[in-house]
Amino acid sequence: MDLRYPVAPQAHLILSRLIAHGFEAYLVGGSVRDQVLGRPITDLDITTSASTAEVLALFHDHKTSRIGERLGTIGIHVQSSWIEVTTYRIDSASSNARHPDSVTFTTSLVEDLKRRDFTINALVMDQSGRVLDPLDGMADLQAKRITAIGNPDDRFKEDALRILRALRFGAQLGFSIDHATGEALLRHQALLDTLPVERIRAELDKLIRSDSLETIFYPYFSVLSRVLAISPQGLAGFEHFEGFELKLLTLLEHLSPQAIHHELLRLKYPKRLAAQLAKLASVRNATASTSIAIKHLLREIGVDGVNLILTYQDVHGITGIDPELTAQVMAQDPVVTLNRLAINGHDLMALGIQGKTIQTILDRLLEAVIEETLPNEANVLLKAARAFLDEKG
Ligand code: ATP
Ligand code: MG
Repeated sequence: MDLRYPVAPQAHLILSRLIAHGFEAYLVGGSVRDQVLGRPITDLDITTSASTAEVLALFHDHKTSRIGERLGTIGIHVQSSWIEVTTYRIDSASSNARHPDSVTFTTSLVEDLKRRDFTINALVMDQSGRVLDPLDGMADLQAKRITAIGNPDDRFKEDALRILRALRFGAQLGFSIDHATGEALLRHQALLDTLPVERIRAELDKLIRSDSLETIFYPYFSVLSRVLAISPQGLAGFEHFEGFELKLLTLLEHLSPQAIHHELLRLKYPKRLAAQLAKLASVRNATASTSIAIKHLLREIGVDGVNLILTYQDVHGITGIDPELTAQVMAQDPVVTLNRLAINGHDLMALGIQGKTIQTILDRLLEAVIEETLPNEANVLLKAARAFLDEKG
């Protein structure tokens, strides 16, 4: 069967120019895999027999990037996206389970494909959209299976990140892991401890955003727990959530807000995200059945946060925040933030109030407006501010 896929025009431009100059060139890796699976394509990678110098010379009319040149990769800017063009390469053994000690270039496509991680990532597509499959990746794609190329023990020892990549692809694609590949990754899981946390996080991020962890969570629980403090009861509900926050919150179900904060900082997630997740965790079981309680929650975690917790509670069957009442309260767009208060810090300064007291008083006024003990009117709030001051002495 001569099945052909459409080739992205940017890729076609590069492939056809390389071929016209006598080189071999193919799309390779994720884009071919995803196209065959009918999934959205992210980045485009091209593998070629041309050297980096030859690629640079051929594309001198384009913006190029030489950041990856030592490893044979030239970035070419085409129609507002970057395409990576890499010379056929063989990676040597690795002495640190992180990267090859050296790379050598080759003229053989098959040799290049053999250095890649999994058979499903070693499919190539020519400029006419025909798929070539020297390492039998199509069979694994059809069987929904992640299989290491060559000897799995060696492949994980060369680069421990592949252990996590196997799980990540399993999760993203809903594939299971080939038996021998799975045994090997269990055997070598301790190598994960040697990887820099940034590389781990990049894979973890994709894993957490996946649709379903069914195929990999329980069989490879020990492996995943090495990189994230996952909870054994944590998968329930996971596939119902679309956003990153609730998926992560589900995986870290058993942890306290402080422990979640700590875990995310350990993984070098941005401080803001760690704080946001900890805050969400602190109210995940919150109850709110009065409009005042709902307004307090809105003040604490915002509209987006309240919507997330409503979804979380719905999926987990928690009777906590009243969804109908929340909708009503939100529709009224109540004052729950300092910037909507009828007076501000300048008004208090005009009364001669200074320093930290300004913040304290504004917070108390907002509190009173939320509690509906004061209306949000400037003259009333200023009067109340004076009263607070007098009471402080
Ligand atoms: P994604 O859709 O996330 O981009 P991908 O398979 O394209 O997935 P990339 O990291 O973009 O992953 O890598 C492109 C290709 O390079 C892979 O498909 C694979 O052939 C090869 N590759 C990437 N990382 C490794 C690795 N650690 N070991 C071996 N081959 C790798
Ligand atoms: Mg890719």
